[in-house]
Amino acid sequence: GMPEKWVILRHALKPALLPVISYLGPAAATILTGSVVIEPPPEQVAEARRRAEEDARRLEEARSRAAAPAVTTDGVAIEVAANIGSVEDARAAVEAGADGVGLLRTEFLYLNRTTPPSEEEQEETYRQIAEALGGRPLVLRTLDVGGDKPLPFLPRPPEQNPFLGVRGLRLGLAEPELLMSQVRAALRVAATHPVRIMFPMVSVLSEWEQVRTMVGEAAEQIGGLPDGLQIGVMVEVPSLALAADRFAAVVDFFSIGTNDLTQYTLAAERGNPELANLADALHPSVLSLIDRTCRAAAEHGRWVGVCGEAAGDPLAVPILVGLGVTELSMSPVAIAQVKDVVRRIDASDARRLAASALEMTSAEAVRRAASRYLAG
Ligand code: PEP
Ligand code: MG
Repeated sequence: GMPEKWVILRHALKPALLPVISYLGPAAATILTGSVVIEPPPEQVAEARRRAEEDARRLEEARSRAAAPAVTTDGVAIEVAANIGSVEDARAAVEAGADGVGLLRTEFLYLNRTTPPSEEEQEETYRQIAEALGGRPLVLRTLDVGGDKPLPFLPRPPEQNPFLGVRGLRLGLAEPELLMSQVRAALRVAATHPVRIMFPMVSVLSEWEQVRTMVGEAAEQIGGLPDGLQIGVMVEVPSLALAADRFAAVVDFFSIGTNDLTQYTLAAERGNPELANLADALHPSVLSLIDRTCRAAAEHGRWVGVCGEAAGDPLAVPILVGLGVTELSMSPVAIAQVKDVVRRIDASDARRLAASALEMTSAEAVRRAASRYLAG
């Protein structure tokens, strides 16, 4: 009969790329995934099947423990949370074992409509999400559009370089009523639920100062700042990570958006498959910015999370934990597996692994080291 054809995929490969690979053939597959075997010998097929079965069994076990906390072998608790973008996602996140939501992408309320959502609609939606989480923490990120994701009801001049343009908090500061309305809606829910507010694409301290003033004004308008409310920033722009000591003095937490932080650090567009190997969050230059953020945060008693794709990448987990990250937020499907990885880690070993990763010269070397650590 026909020889069996199969591919070995790099773990981070997006399923969406599969049709591209089958269309473009093995050369493209090699570029996109690192390795492909065409018409392999039967022993290799048998070995791949054995590994696939082993993986499936492990995943099954991980799923059965998904709702339990993730604690390292030496007792460091890591919050494993979900990235969500709807009320249904919140329910699915709890189902998947999430300890909370580390990133609520609120864009879903704004896109594909010709008028902005009313404050009441926003409040109602945030409240439904908070309620679906049954007391688990919810990190709500304010509107992160602009640039490549324009709002139909908010015409903006075209930009040459949208990823470096008026996006994220920059748009919120340019359109303060839009942001104020969102902040008021979030604060009303935060009065009765553990809602934290986080701002995207912050680059310089004066942006934080402006938005912090706006939060104060919004709180006054609705009768005060909820007790214990945490307000933080995403670390997506290298200038913020480099100034993390200044920010750590004034923010309540950091959440590292490795998708954007990686693209800005390596100047490698995040969705470009040709640059997929370059835009790797485990590159030591990116890790160095994460390290800097964690050190500054620790000095001021703040917590650091990661809510970019790296949080759900098993090889990144020991490195991030070793750098001092205590919250990992990811697509709900990754939660069970990541919790299992955390449970296999010893935090002091992970610190040594992370320290050595910072000295390496490539993301590949870091991945090899992390892989050896998890295998051993
Ligand atoms: C990120 O940049 O890593 C992130 C989590 O935000 P988004 O993917 O929504 O840009
Ligand atoms: Mg981002």
